[in-house]
Amino acid sequence: MSPIGLFGGTFDPVHFGHLRLATELAEAFRLERVVFIPAGLPYHRGRSAHASNEQRLTMLKLAVARDPRLDVDDRELKREGETYTYDTLAEIRAERGPDAPLVFLIGSDAFAKIDTWHRGSELLDLAHFAVAIRGDDEDWASKGPGAFPREVWPRITLNLREMLSAPSGKVMTFRMTPLAISSTAIRELSGEDRSIRYLTPEPVVEFVRAHRIYSSKREAQAASGSPAPHA
Ligand code: ATP
Repeated sequence: MSPIGLFGGTFDPVHFGHLRLATELAEAFRLERVVFIPAGLPYHRGRSAHASNEQRLTMLKLAVARDPRLDVDDRELKREGETYTYDTLAEIRAERGPDAPLVFLIGSDAFAKIDTWHRGSELLDLAHFAVAIRGDDEDWASKGPGAFPREVWPRITLNLREMLSAPSGKVMTFRMTPLAISSTAIRELSGEDRSIRYLTPEPVVEFVRAHRIYSSKREAQAASGSPAPHA
């Protein structure tokens, strides 16, 4: 059975760092497909400029449209209340059955905090974790696997065959091409009316520009014709 890759994130907006991660891990782990799963309720991070759920979904669809191996699943956006990766993986596991190999894709910076995620230990039993070592991850550079929570260590394997012979439970790392791109930087550049070209696919650039998604509030209001509030 060919393994399916699942890639969760805020994707606000999706960028080439995400797309390269998905592509490189798909090749390294022989994934038939990689499904991007945008997280619901991104607002807890307290950001001023952000896209709506629908806009993040549209940008993802635009970004993956020309790659048959990449797909988008909007189940977390449809869920009421807090959304947890645990619930999503449990749902997908139930849909695909106990024997289907599932591989959750994640950057090393995010994986280092996996023990703080909702039902973090049980989460590790629901899928394999393919961890992309990011070139800009200083913690990994100094500590290696010591940057990950201790409970993860026994799950780490160097053997792809061993990993893919089981449906879940293993952790493998992969050093990906360093691309120092972040959604934060894209939002900031947009907010300053600077170009975001070549950081994300052109259809996403055009969508961000057309809808002034990360423009400063004042600018967005000017564009929509409504008066700016007093500062
Ligand atoms: P933000 O800047 O808003 O925090 P982000 O660019 O880190 O966003 P997320 O949607 O939070 O993007 O990230 C989803 C996943 O993609 C995480 O596992 C993260 O480690 C990984 N990731 C993000 N940017 C890169 C990149 N440039 N290279 C490799 N992995 C990345």
